Amino acid sequence: MTDQTKIEPEAQALTDGFHLLIDALKLNDINTIYGVPGIPITDLGRMAQAAGIRVLSFRHEQNAGNAAAIAGYLTKKPGVCLTVSAPGFLNGLTALAHATTNCWPMILISGSSEREVVDLMQGDYEEMDQLAIAKPLCKAAYRILHAEDIGIGVARAIRAAVSGRPGGVYLDIPGALLGQVMDEVEGQKSLVKVIDAAPAQLPGPEAVSRALDVIKSAQKPLIILGKGASYAQVDDLVKDFVEKSGIPYLPMSMAKGLLPDTHPQSAGAARSLVLKESDVVIMVGARLNWLLSHGKGKQWGAPHSTKFVQIDIEPREMDSNVEIAAPLVGDIGSCLGALVDGMGDNWAKPPSDWIDAVNAKRDANIARMAPTLQNNASPMNYAGALGALRTIIAERPDAILVNEGANTLDFARSIIDMYKPRKRLDVGTWGVMGVGMGSAIAAAVETGCPVLAVEGDSAFGFSGMEVETICRYKLPVCIVVFNNNGIYRGTDVNTSGSDDVAPTVFVENSRYDLMMQAFGGEGVHVTNPDELSRAVNAAMDSGKPTLINAAIDPAAGKESGNIGNLNPVSVVGKK
Ligand code: ADP
Ligand code: MG
Repeated sequence: MTDQTKIEPEAQALTDGFHLLIDALKLNDINTIYGVPGIPITDLGRMAQAAGIRVLSFRHEQNAGNAAAIAGYLTKKPGVCLTVSAPGFLNGLTALAHATTNCWPMILISGSSEREVVDLMQGDYEEMDQLAIAKPLCKAAYRILHAEDIGIGVARAIRAAVSGRPGGVYLDIPGALLGQVMDEVEGQKSLVKVIDAAPAQLPGPEAVSRALDVIKSAQKPLIILGKGASYAQVDDLVKDFVEKSGIPYLPMSMAKGLLPDTHPQSAGAARSLVLKESDVVIMVGARLNWLLSHGKGKQWGAPHSTKFVQIDIEPREMDSNVEIAAPLVGDIGSCLGALVDGMGDNWAKPPSDWIDAVNAKRDANIARMAPTLQNNASPMNYAGALGALRTIIAERPDAILVNEGANTLDFARSIIDMYKPRKRLDVGTWGVMGVGMGSAIAAAVETGCPVLAVEGDSAFGFSGMEVETICRYKLPVCIVVFNNNGIYRGTDVNTSGSDDVAPTVFVENSRYDLMMQAFGGEGVHVTNPDELSRAVNAAMDSGKPTLINAAIDPAAGKESGNIGNLNPVSVVGKK
């Protein structure tokens, strides 16, 4: 080869790692990135925005990650979070683990430092072997070293996130990769559009008839709908199955609204009774974990034994806690479709004494609760304040309810009825605090619906700085902070004699509403349910970022809400 035959660089069209990564995401319809800019991914964010991807910058990576996790839940596409190296990566990793635990598709893309220096541990800027650290905390983790592998690397990440049981994927992007140059035509050819990213998984015919036999044998059947069922987006099929079977159903927290909570077969307000007495339980995208007392013990009426039919895409979920009499492994759509077909036209409804007993209990509990929800007491108690919000959601069923806290979570879950699928976003499988603002932002961005975030004052504090993000992007988010001056409540006393307040106590009568005003949003302070109602309605009508500081009686609230039993108790007593 002579010098004359060499391709002149200016004559050859080139691309680089930045462009290939952006093109690979766009090719796969990933049109939103949640993240925090910094070395080495600042330009990546700028260029992604210039290329038409919506790039939302947060104030802390954990909140961006929580947004990506919820985006995955709402859209069935991986939510993407983009972070800087080491500390930014670690901040995002909590959310990636949270997404994995909840079975939501998410991809954490983090820049990383010079591989050669990191691997020799020579002390690079933000040196960390991020791939190794991410691996045990997510579903899959990959590193791309060459520009020509970006297409396949992104395709692997997407498929790993959404196929089978969805989960979090880590994608490690060494800074040097972004600057790597290659021929543009070759680069475009190397990109991969993932075909059938989450293939249908059909249950075997024997498994279907076994499940139908078990259901048929039941005298007191129950359906439990979990957030896997709402994730699946086969809402009509869920309704068909429930209605055709005539079986009472219990929605898990984030499955509330999959069928309206006012549905005649809802056993939501008869939870204790149906768990204790049912003889056959059909689990649809829900796990027998701590949230259901692992399917055994006194909550399940032990020594009475319950038979389980379980629909799940993950075979290893079967027998995880108790024996599953009829495992139905497959996607919810295929499994419910097969069951509905198998039920035929003459399916016998459950015995009427069971249905009557469930309905009587439910109606009695609802009637007992009703008057407490109408009190206009000041300072507010949970029932009064949540009674007001309950009416607002009934009148605005398209609004998305974000909910976290201890008492604020537990009371809101039982008091606020939901009417449509995927409208309730909360703390998920871990019961983690701090997901509120990330969830609220992603909900508004992904759906365009108004968002009502009902937050305990402690829970809000974990991600409160994102009110600036909400104002910056002018999102239709109304935050209500249930302010009772502390964690669980604001009345704990320090018995040591020192000047510090007790570990669970915050500044008295804080004005969280002023935080929102600092960034140009609306801030309102309210002291009774009528004022709360007016302020929330005004916020939902205007669509303006709003924070309502709702003063709750500092003595209201119990330790750890409904799960105080999980606290260890000192055998020698409190000193
Ligand atoms: P909940 O907390 O509401 O009980 P979980 O998160 O415990 O719900 O359970 C959800 C289950 O749904 C997981 O076991 C997951 O594997 C399963 N799942 C998620 N998506 C699908 C799907 N498309 N088809 C079948 N099962 C699914
Ligand atoms: Mg509190």
